[in-house]
Amino acid sequence: MATVELTAVEALDRDLRGTILLPTSAGYDQARRIWNGMIDRRPAVIVRCVGASDVVAAVNFGSEHDLLIAVRGGGHNVAGNAVCDGGLMIDLSGMRDVHAEPGLRRARAGGGATWGDFDAETQLFGLATTGGLISDTGVAGLTLGGGIGWLTRSHGLACDNLISVDIVTAAGQRVTASEEDNPDLFWGLKGGSGNFGIATSFEFQLHPVGPLLFAGMTLYPLESAQEVLVHFRDFMAGSSDELGGLAGFTTTPDGQPVLALIGVYNGDLSDGEAALKPLRDFRQPLLDTFAPTPYRKIQTLFDAGTPPGLRYYWKSSFLDGLPEDGLATVISQARKRPTPDCKIFLEFLGGACARFPKEAAVFDHRDSPFNLLIIGAWQDQDQDETNRTWARDTWQAMQPFASEGVYVNYLGTESDEGINRIPAAYGAGKYEKLLGLKKKYDPTNLFRMNQNIPPEGAS
Ligand SMILES: Cc1cc2nc3c(=O)[nH]c(=O)nc-3n(C[C@H](O)[C@H](O)[C@H](O)COP(=O)(O)OP(=O)(O)OC[C@H]3O[C@@H](n4cnc5c(N)ncnc54)[C@H](O)[C@@H]3O)c2cc1C
Repeated sequence: MATVELTAVEALDRDLRGTILLPTSAGYDQARRIWNGMIDRRPAVIVRCVGASDVVAAVNFGSEHDLLIAVRGGGHNVAGNAVCDGGLMIDLSGMRDVHAEPGLRRARAGGGATWGDFDAETQLFGLATTGGLISDTGVAGLTLGGGIGWLTRSHGLACDNLISVDIVTAAGQRVTASEEDNPDLFWGLKGGSGNFGIATSFEFQLHPVGPLLFAGMTLYPLESAQEVLVHFRDFMAGSSDELGGLAGFTTTPDGQPVLALIGVYNGDLSDGEAALKPLRDFRQPLLDTFAPTPYRKIQTLFDAGTPPGLRYYWKSSFLDGLPEDGLATVISQARKRPTPDCKIFLEFLGGACARFPKEAAVFDHRDSPFNLLIIGAWQDQDQDETNRTWARDTWQAMQPFASEGVYVNYLGTESDEGINRIPAAYGAGKYEKLLGLKKKYDPTNLFRMNQNIPPEGAS
């Protein structure tokens, strides 16, 4: 190892409850692997933490030895920020405990828990909070960037439901952030991503959800996509906050390109069935799966469509609106998808997310009605350029309909996205305040493998 003596690693090992993996260790290659198969990085040291004291020891070790630090929650970040080359990877995948307190309608999740872990424990009591659409996305990364899910229109973003976060700062201190304790830090954790420290646990407000919800999808051939999307856009605009919705361009298992409309009604089953009737009656779909469905199953509906290990490249923007020419553009780009694994998603926002006080969290895009996510996904390295080009062209074609904002959790690398995209993700009006917070909690930019807010004077 170039920068750290083995004796120092041995001393760290004695301090830990968890384990250390070096490039020669069994399990090292498995541990450095993350969701995006494009990312192939080799940390000098991986610390697999099992508790906050391990995180403190790892942070102090990284700081003392001037190591680049990467933090792994669920490992889903498309830019690959969970793993670094040559530095220290602090892996929280051993900290997945979730403890629900049904009487208080609260739950606490470890810094490496996934949404599958969270939903399993909270649905025991018919409770949930807004979480990601895929069961193995990390609670940590998703919440720290905002957190969009089926319940966003009912209950806001994941970060809007935070009660407190326990965090290890760059100084190696374990502090609590909440409305009462370190409220400035608490604000920064609601959308400021991993800039301010390593979260060891998250406490959330829960809500009664399900366990059965009326939910499902309808599929249509691309020939009818324009009229179906116009109808869906208008239908969602007139729907109550209980309805979460998404339109996606994808490919069926037998190879047919389709438009999928997904709806999840967070309320009474018969109300849901009635609410969704005009959508399901509009045109004869190729398939209609709407039915009473367990919430935990809904939370896995997309799992198979975005498997780990494929090569992924994303582009994204919030949209100001979806006029008919915007829909025609997105349909035309959907027809050009270079591989069947490529997708385009249109997420429908609004509802409780839009009503949450804008100044109460970093997340700044509450006025945006739609979020566009272009997913380049493919298997072979020799298809890299074709897929990246398609995603970039699609994003470019949709710019006339886009706002300046972008969801921080869908951003790629700064070198690819350009220097202005990170301030655009955090919001121009909030960036100055975030710089001040970064200076206070991480003045040397120890935590920089993220959508980084560099403190003044830091490299
Ligand atoms: C298949 C898939 C589905 C997705 N679905 C959704 C969705 O439905 N809704 C949505 O809003 N987003 C979604 N996302 C985006 C997701 O929110 C981001 O990729 C997020 O970064 C994932 O968090 P993670 O913990 O899994 O990632 P990781 O790659 O482990 O972490 C990402 C970054 O978060 C920070 N981080 C992680 N853990 C911690 C911690 N404990 N403390 C401090 N910082 C930490 C670090 O900076 C790290 O670099 C999805 C992503 C994928 C790949």
